[in-house]
Amino acid sequence: MNPPPIVRVALDHPLASLYDYRWQGEAPPEVGRLVSVPFGKRSVVGLVFEIATQTEVSDGRLRDVEIACASMPPLSRAWCELIAFAASYYQRALGEVAMPALPTPLREPERWERLFARERRYRLTQAGDEALPEALPTRAAALRRLAQGLRAPAGLGPAQARALHPKAIATLDEWQANGWAERLSDEGGVPGSFGASGAADVPVPAATPDQLAALAEIEGAAGFKPFLLYGVTGSGKTEVYLRALARLLEREPDAQALVLVPEINLTPQFERTFRTRFGTLPADSIVSLHSGLAEGERTRNWLAAHTGRARILLGTRLAVLASLPRLALIVVDEEHDPAYKQQEGLRYSARDLAIWRAKQLDIPIMLGSATPSLESWQQAEHGRYRRLTLATRAVPDAVLPAIRLIDQDAEKRGGVATVEGMSATLIAALRARLERGEQSLVFVNRRGYAPVLACDACGWLAGCPRCSAYTVLHKVDRTLRCHHCGWESRIPRACPECGNIDLAPLGRGTQRVEEALAGVVPGARVLRIDADSTRRKGSAEALFDNVHAGDVDILIGTQMIAKGHDFQRVTLVGVLNADAALFSHDFRASERLFAQLMQVSGRAGRAGLPGEVMIQTRYAGHALYGALVRHDYPGFARAALGERREARLPPFAFQALLRADGRTLEAALAFLDQAAAALDGLPGADQVTRYDAVPLTIVKVMNVHRAQLLLESGSRAALQATLRAWQPLLRELKGVLRWSVEVDPLDI
Ligand code: ADP
Ligand code: ZN
Ligand code: ZN
Repeated sequence: MNPPPIVRVALDHPLASLYDYRWQGEAPPEVGRLVSVPFGKRSVVGLVFEIATQTEVSDGRLRDVEIACASMPPLSRAWCELIAFAASYYQRALGEVAMPALPTPLREPERWERLFARERRYRLTQAGDEALPEALPTRAAALRRLAQGLRAPAGLGPAQARALHPKAIATLDEWQANGWAERLSDEGGVPGSFGASGAADVPVPAATPDQLAALAEIEGAAGFKPFLLYGVTGSGKTEVYLRALARLLEREPDAQALVLVPEINLTPQFERTFRTRFGTLPADSIVSLHSGLAEGERTRNWLAAHTGRARILLGTRLAVLASLPRLALIVVDEEHDPAYKQQEGLRYSARDLAIWRAKQLDIPIMLGSATPSLESWQQAEHGRYRRLTLATRAVPDAVLPAIRLIDQDAEKRGGVATVEGMSATLIAALRARLERGEQSLVFVNRRGYAPVLACDACGWLAGCPRCSAYTVLHKVDRTLRCHHCGWESRIPRACPECGNIDLAPLGRGTQRVEEALAGVVPGARVLRIDADSTRRKGSAEALFDNVHAGDVDILIGTQMIAKGHDFQRVTLVGVLNADAALFSHDFRASERLFAQLMQVSGRAGRAGLPGEVMIQTRYAGHALYGALVRHDYPGFARAALGERREARLPPFAFQALLRADGRTLEAALAFLDQAAAALDGLPGADQVTRYDAVPLTIVKVMNVHRAQLLLESGSRAALQATLRAWQPLLRELKGVLRWSVEVDPLDI
């Protein structure tokens, strides 16, 4: 007799990549099945990655799989490969990537049964379709509605059925016994059909010539084809996505598409657009996935994608790891956005994983942006991505806004006073908009009232006791708050150093500008949107609705208001204190600043009224602003890529960071020095440059001291090989609270 098969399972644990268990039942579970296994004194859920006949684990220590999850179709091989790639590329254990990618309830075996019971769906059989509703009593309206609902291709779930008829479940049992209704299995979930009934009757704008040209290329594409959809703000990139999606869903009756957006706040706008355009699809054919969803909804939507019922999955970065067994097209909107980078745990780039997925599945992918990342632009320059350009705005008569630089120093020399950091020119423009009934937007890249509170007498600055950072003054609730660790205190009455009671806020945040606007533009309805004003769930959406409804004259906010929103009546954008980023030590700061200013400028003049942008600066002669005024992203990119090439920075080099957190800075640096020494002789290490270990800019957060070591190489393969060999050596080192490796870091 053969020995029982060995099931090799990925568990959410940083050490080994797979754990071996014995299977005692009939046929062993397939690769991609969830199983519950004993681990120490507990039971944990893991994912089967391999079936083997042998194991290194001794007989005495080998334990049995407890139970396999039979009700859910297994995750596909392609998905398991995606996880394996992400784990290896980002230097993590398989299970550390696989398990957090699954909805939490799937990791609790006691919930399996109920989870899928709720996922049951019923549909009319052929016989039922013929017999009903004639067989029903004439006045049984609710029963008729139930029968009608069961005709939908995706059928009805129990809750939906009960909404139509209170005793739906008993009725369904009866009808099943009659042969009138049947239960759909999850595996065979019928995807929402598209095309058969045609798209909903919503007016679709005639595509612009640029849009048509882009679509012709996309539709002609087969196989792995990355497109860089470079479209100026308001050029109608969304319309290109919509048409490409429509074509795909029509042509391939069960194909799925993944659409990634950078921000949770953009999902409602997109979801609405999709639902209106594809209104004939059943409700769960378009689902979204992001961290703002309640657990139940997130699980349902994830399952809709996994079982193939969802045709379009719309989501933030985490959606790139969703299971989509029939994925045929990927869209990454605003592909340059740093929010695609996960900054904790598995520090992945959703855009890069999306490209990998498209390549693996040999399908097209569209990366859209008005200011592409320099990485993607470089790929297009090399012809590895196909660049599609939308050069003008899509709405007839809408043109790109005129961008003006307002030289604050020159205004001052001319004797014009700045009021609360706002130039006279900007204030006059804001007043003119109010008179004309148009909206303005004021962009301030800092929340709170003032970035710091200072004592004029002795130079004291209010700082966080736990971090090496200043505390931000929040006047609304009279607190000083640390934006790094959350520490809060009351505003002191007097300087704790010298007793001076004349403490003054330095610099400006959104709250201070909001307060000032009430004075300088009397009568204006001012709304502030930032992380503080949108803390409650759903509140951002409500605030944006106010803007769209025209209940706001001046919208003030941080980058939250800069991205993607299609404001129809904004004709003026003012930008305060943008200069700081010009002189940052971070080599990506100028790329980010350019993208941010281009994005926020793009909110002006979208619907035909001419738009104007005023950027207050002390460096009006700076080349970055010059390119911005000309709307010259290609010019900016050329110059920036030239500098990167000279300096051998990404995308002309590959980087990785080792970060260490210690009780003292010395401990963190000592750890990193030992780690650096351990690199000697590792495979690939001769092609890897190591820099000195350095403290982070904000070195102390929550009393933890942070430092990092940067590695860089012209060869991705060499860097990967080095990192892989380095991991086990790092695990041997001691002396810090924690450490982590980050591949392709964005902030260094
Ligand atoms: P982008 O994402 O490129 O900034 P959007 O997709 O938000 O631009 O489109 C900008 C505006 O142009 C939207 O109001 C959209 O409805 C409109 N639009 C898009 N395509 C067309 C078209 N072909 N004709 C008329 N209006 C269009
Ligand atoms: Zn003082
Ligand atoms: Zn702090």
